Amino acid sequence: MSHFQLQQASHEPVVLQEVPFYKPAGNECTLFEVAYRQQLPLLIKGPTGCGKTRFIAHMAARLGRPLYTVSCHDDMTAADLTGRYLLKGGETVWVDGPLTQAVRTGGICYLDEIVEARKDVTVVLHPLTDDRRILPLERTGEILKAPDGFMLVVSYNPGYQNILKSLKPSTRQRFVSISFDFAPLEAEVEIVSSESGLPVAQCVPLVNLGKRLRALKEVDLEEVVSTRLLVYCAILIKNGLDPFQAAETALVEPLCDDLDVKEGLLELIRATY
Ligand code: ADP
Repeated sequence: MSHFQLQQASHEPVVLQEVPFYKPAGNECTLFEVAYRQQLPLLIKGPTGCGKTRFIAHMAARLGRPLYTVSCHDDMTAADLTGRYLLKGGETVWVDGPLTQAVRTGGICYLDEIVEARKDVTVVLHPLTDDRRILPLERTGEILKAPDGFMLVVSYNPGYQNILKSLKPSTRQRFVSISFDFAPLEAEVEIVSSESGLPVAQCVPLVNLGKRLRALKEVDLEEVVSTRLLVYCAILIKNGLDPFQAAETALVEPLCDDLDVKEGLLELIRATY
């Protein structure tokens, strides 16, 4: 009875009343809207912390759809998406997973870091991502037809995963795809300032520093400074921290442990602060 669980997982959708701030890089908002209206599933690629999740939250709110977000990982089973039988007060009841809820309610289901999910999980998505738009639930015997409002959005970070972890071509080919990257200087300054409340004049050197840190080729880092970390750094500065210490705490320590690498990054920071 391994598929019975005592505790119910909570999959509350996010229904935002206000549209969260999102600074577009190009015409991705139009693209998302057309994909939504034409019922095409969407794949978003891009580095961690560059705005993928914010973009989807923004679009879900703009389109007035509930948003179900799932962070994928390699222990995740298909039942984590579709649902399972749970014991509740001595009774066995079926509880929908987030994907099933999104299909039933006509919401947007966002699967973050889809490459982390095992192949058998991605196979569950196949009948939803072609013109059938169905979700067969083996355990309940139901075949759910996705309503017009349902949309599947998946994302992954092509940079940091190893080559072994990539989407199967048969899965990739079911999605229209957009590549995201960090915003250009002016736009990233606007984002960091608006998210942190730090004045633009103070965000300019910070974002410039971020761009320089990203460009460091000789430093061996798995991930580069994200917009999210620049926002954190700006929040620390805004709240009175010395900018050098803020940068060390938000831009160096989260990215590496190696002393030599840290020193390389700190050297660049010293040139700014
Ligand atoms: P990820 O690509 O990992 O999903 P997020 O969407 O969570 O990244 O972005 C991290 C943070 O960076 C957001 O919470 C937001 O503060 C900021 N951000 C990044 N890009 C944008 C953008 N284009 N507009 C507004 N905020 C952004």
